[in-house]
Amino acid sequence: MADPVRRAFVCGHPISHSRSPIIHSYWLDQYGIAGSYAAIDVAPERFPDFLSGLREAGLTGGNITIPHKEAAFAAVSRRDAAAEAIGAVNTVWFEDGHLHGGNSDAHGFSANLDECAPGWDKGRSAVVVGAGGAARAVIHALIEHGIGDIRLANRTAARAAELALRFGAPVSAHAMGALPEICADADLLINTTSLGMAGDIGLPADPAWLPEHAIVNDLVYVPLQTPLLAAAAARGLRTVDGLGMLLHQAVPGFERWFGRRPVVTPALRDRIVADLDGKA
Ligand code: NAP
Repeated sequence: MADPVRRAFVCGHPISHSRSPIIHSYWLDQYGIAGSYAAIDVAPERFPDFLSGLREAGLTGGNITIPHKEAAFAAVSRRDAAAEAIGAVNTVWFEDGHLHGGNSDAHGFSANLDECAPGWDKGRSAVVVGAGGAARAVIHALIEHGIGDIRLANRTAARAAELALRFGAPVSAHAMGALPEICADADLLINTTSLGMAGDIGLPADPAWLPEHAIVNDLVYVPLQTPLLAAAAARGLRTVDGLGMLLHQAVPGFERWFGRRPVVTPALRDRIVADLDGKA
């Protein structure tokens, strides 16, 4: 008997902006897999029913995005180590009869740096600006890669302090005003705030404060070349944009649902860049 057609999804509210259907449909097509991946808009009050009804709806699993990641964390039966550490679930699948939840954002972050700035994890110190959901995934990845000195600065100081408490010793919380000082000998700078998104000219930090060997990574990928990355490149620093994180975070989910580990290729990246440019 032929394999049943597997149906996966990304669920959020709103969801129309999501590029995940393009990524997964590209891989399904590329590998000749008879499956599907669709965006589903689910309002918060309907999310518990949606999640408990996945099997009845014939869904194999999927991605969970804003604003449902914490609700999914609470609702799944089992969680992977990354989801436990981050406190949010962005990927769900069935295993041993149970709904499992994982978080692939930390993997996406580090795989992007592995690809675009090999050797990045030999650095000893990192400055992380922002203390929201993305920052939690970044901090988890930095700790997993042995970065022992993680300096966290956020507009709302209490949120940075809360994360430093959550992740413990490698993480210290700082005021935004301390950025020139904490950047001075940092090996890595990561922007996890929404500063720099389409039309916003705000800089989370000035690359002039960094040493010459520093790597600068922006999680914002619309636009690809953010004001932070442009300023860092002008100063001659190595820069990594945020699109690779989006592409790489999709890999573990696709493998779980469709049984094949997909590869992030330049052609896939070009496909998404064309979409971001409004050309696709
Ligand atoms: P979030 O939980 O809402 O956190 C937003 C963060 O940005 C907070 O630290 C917030 O500071 C800060 N912020 C917002 N406006 C600011 C401003 N005007 N000045 C200074 N700080 C400001 O959002 P998130 O989920 O962490 O996402 C953050 C960014 O990362 C978004 O741009 C998102 O698109 C991007 N992202 C990219 C990927 C990827 O795959 N590349 C993955 C996840 C997220 P307060 O705490 O003071 O409000």
